[in-house]
Amino acid sequence: MTTLKDLTTPFQPNWCPGCGNMTIWAAFKNAVVQQGWDNYNTTFVADIGCNGHIVNFTKLTSLEGLHGRPLPVATGIKMANPELNVFAFTGDGGCFGEGGNHFIHACRRNHDFTIIIHNNALYALTTGQTSPTTSHGYKSKSTPMGNPDQPFYPINLAIAAGATFVARAYSGDIQKLTELIIQANDHPGLAVIDILQPCVTFHKECTHTYYQQNTYDLEEDYDVTNKEAAYAKSLEWGPEQIPLGIFYQVEQPTYESQLAYLGEKPVVHNPPQRRDIQDLFAKYT
Ligand code: SF4
Repeated sequence: MTTLKDLTTPFQPNWCPGCGNMTIWAAFKNAVVQQGWDNYNTTFVADIGCNGHIVNFTKLTSLEGLHGRPLPVATGIKMANPELNVFAFTGDGGCFGEGGNHFIHACRRNHDFTIIIHNNALYALTTGQTSPTTSHGYKSKSTPMGNPDQPFYPINLAIAAGATFVARAYSGDIQKLTELIIQANDHPGLAVIDILQPCVTFHKECTHTYYQQNTYDLEEDYDVTNKEAAYAKSLEWGPEQIPLGIFYQVEQPTYESQLAYLGEKPVVHNPPQRRDIQDLFAKYT
């Protein structure tokens, strides 16, 4: 049984007071404790960025890789050991900027892991530049005259690219986010949780107050299997018009389930084979 104390490291979080990263971290730890996840059955990968600091504050097998690249690392981990619960934490900049191609293809292939997006609508660690989810016209350090680009809508993109579990949450609701992380992990296939995460230091519009006043939960009779309806719903955005919850969920074969050799024996259970490579060295020297 895992306890919150088991997950504690010697380091205190250095996120700004009020930052949404803090409550995403809390929700993830709650999910770990509630589900009994531990170093033997769970691992997570983090992106570079404020979100990536989570590896320092959570005592669970983890790795922080290159900017925008947590998804290929998560893919490799899952293919080497399909028995693990695998999570990829990423920011909106890394996920849709530097790593945009990885996101599309992870969704398309329906890999069996969960992507947790800390979406604060800017690059925060580098002090507040425009990212792919920054709204059109927003004035940031990198676009002082107003952002000329139209933003990506992560839910819309995830559904179009082929993800089979697509949800949006607000970072301030720890209980709902905890439940969503558990549901996403239980889902067989690629799960995306787009989390509205206020950067209280650099984003002056996407604030806690804004999200508390302008989000609503999807209706109870909302049909999560209707792709066309989910796609239309994913385009809703604006004052009092930001839906939260599971937009889309269907079961389809995962990438891993279609690779016969993974079913027979996960790669991780194969002992390393020692080979004499002296001939190779001799050939190229
Ligand atoms: Fe959070 Fe923004 Fe501070 Fe980074 S800069 S820790 S995202 S509030």
